Amino acid sequence: MHTVQKKSNSEPRPDLVSVADLSGPMETGLTSRTRTLFSDLGQTADAMGCALYVVGGWPRDLLLNRPNFDVDVVVEGDGVAFAEAFVSKKGGRVVRHERFQTAMIVLENGCKVDVVSARQECYHRPGALPTVQPGGIEQDLYRRDFTINSMAIQLNAAGYGRLVDLFGGRRDLEQKTLRVLHERSFVEDPTRMMRAVRFEQRFGFRMERTTEQLLRHAAADQMLERVSSERIREELILLLREEHPYKPLLRLDELGVLRALHPGLRTDGDRKNLFARIGEALSWFGQRHPDDVVDRWMLFFLGLMDALEVKEKSAFAEKWRMPRKVRELVREIGHFVEVVVSLTEARIHPSRIYRLLNPIKTESVLFLMARSTEKSVKQRIALYLDRLRKVSIELSGRDLSDMGIPPGPIFRTILDGVLEAKIDGKVGSKAEEWAWAGKMWRALGEP
Ligand code: ATP
Repeated sequence: MHTVQKKSNSEPRPDLVSVADLSGPMETGLTSRTRTLFSDLGQTADAMGCALYVVGGWPRDLLLNRPNFDVDVVVEGDGVAFAEAFVSKKGGRVVRHERFQTAMIVLENGCKVDVVSARQECYHRPGALPTVQPGGIEQDLYRRDFTINSMAIQLNAAGYGRLVDLFGGRRDLEQKTLRVLHERSFVEDPTRMMRAVRFEQRFGFRMERTTEQLLRHAAADQMLERVSSERIREELILLLREEHPYKPLLRLDELGVLRALHPGLRTDGDRKNLFARIGEALSWFGQRHPDDVVDRWMLFFLGLMDALEVKEKSAFAEKWRMPRKVRELVREIGHFVEVVVSLTEARIHPSRIYRLLNPIKTESVLFLMARSTEKSVKQRIALYLDRLRKVSIELSGRDLSDMGIPPGPIFRTILDGVLEAKIDGKVGSKAEEWAWAGKMWRALGEP
């Protein structure tokens, strides 16, 4: 394994150093917007007399020919001052993160650039956040997770397009290999175990043998327990945001990492099918309702927890400090059995389907759709998502006042009743809604 010896020095290994010229692909493969951005960034750095590099995912994806709109730059100097100098000339605004001495440039066109000062990191305790001190680009690249993520491309005019590849990242990309930079990588930051699997599976790479051994050891030593719940949550969410999250989850299970999240999690055939059905439900919904935004990853999170008991699910969401919405979804799916039983009734009015599904979030409805194997249940859910949830009435509270009905909770009851009548096709025009409301008002005991 081409690891770089840790501690002894952070000097690049001469046999792995590659300083290639990528100015060609940087010229042809970039949108004009990115080209202008890079040239503006380079000019600012030149004016300040500091070296500037685009690093991490962007150079990796350029070499892989994959689009990447996340630009991370490293300044050999004061990153926050650089960001401020940039916006004072080119416009936009700076969001500072004082604690980490990093900044984000938000351009006027909405694009974002993350800026950090080149730094080296020192880990005092496995899993804890490191202390940082200024360094050069070499040290900055050395603190990164994998060789493929540890490349930089210079943006200063003089060295524009120069690839700095100290650890064989380009070779590993060509050989489809995922490799850590040194042996303590997973111990220093155990979240890298999750990142390793995410990149490996996303790109269809294979972990290099020693890297995999190091990962298995870190998993067996329960290194993940040393990391804060928030950091694990963030990595878990990133993993669930992948296009096909079942693959990395399966691999995490195989490597012994998944059980660190919860011993009851499963990636068996049932779960594989469920993930496939979630994917199908999401793409069906996305095609039919492209303007409706759903939190895809949350459905996969529900799928991940599928083998757990209802109570365990809430505890699991709590443990990883999931956003409130996730905890609400977990609560909603806790009542699925009753909903499904009702949805399988032989005869059911559309308004009943509406009443069952309307109180729960679209993510829960879609999860229910993916979870059900019964065709009639799926059809009824589809009817709800396609049509019933969009039905609205013209009648308003004001109309009810005009009818002489005294305001109060009765308004809600009547308006809901009119809506359900409309869903069932019993009323159509506003006049009919009006008549229906009057009928309800009399039936409810008009004084
Ligand atoms: P993606 O394509 O998923 O956005 P990315 O490579 O851009 O992947 P980020 O999480 O945005 O990943 O991180 C940017 C860069 O920061 C990485 O490429 C890597 O160099 C470095 N990095 C991020 N997290 C870690 C970590 N835990 N340990 C070491 N380096 C990291």
